[in-house]
Parts: sequence; structure tokens; C-alpha cells
Amino acid sequence: MTREPPPPSTPPTKAHVVRCPGCGGPSRYAPDNPFRPFCSERCKLADLGAWANEEFRVGAVEDADGPLDDAPESGSARPPRH
Ligand SMILES: [Zn+2]
Repeated sequence: MTREPPPPSTPPTKAHVVRCPGCGGPSRYAPDNPFRPFCSERCKLADLGAWANEEFRVGAVEDADGPLDDAPESGSARPPRH
């Protein structure tokens, strides 16, 4: 019986930089970053807080603030047809 050498598994600490979902900045996705995929504790907490708020809102009211001024309302967009 021959012993096989250990496979070259996961390379040691290959830091992976991802985008922080909290602030959009670079975040180290590595074991030494306990807040991954966030870049910092602040972003992690902020995101969790936002999540909770969102859930509360959706659960309570759906159209809370009404439509935003995103789409132009009827006005001067189309010329009148004859
Ligand atoms: Zn961040």
C-alpha cells in the first residue's frame, strides 16, 4: 500500500476581494475577515438593520410612500394625435 501525497487542496490564505454589499467597496473575502462578505462590522450591521426595517415595512404596508418621481407623468411627452 502506498501512501498518496496530500492533494494540493485549497491554497493557503488566498484572499479574495469581493464587493461589499453594504458600501460597494472592496471587501476581503478571507477567513480573517469575520464580516465577509462585508468589508467591516459597520457595513454588516447596517445591512442587517436595513433588512429588518425592510421586512417590517413590507409586512406592514406595501405602498408606504407612494410612487417616486421616477417616470414622467402625462404632460408634454407625446404630441396630440389627430
Ligand atoms: Zn462596506
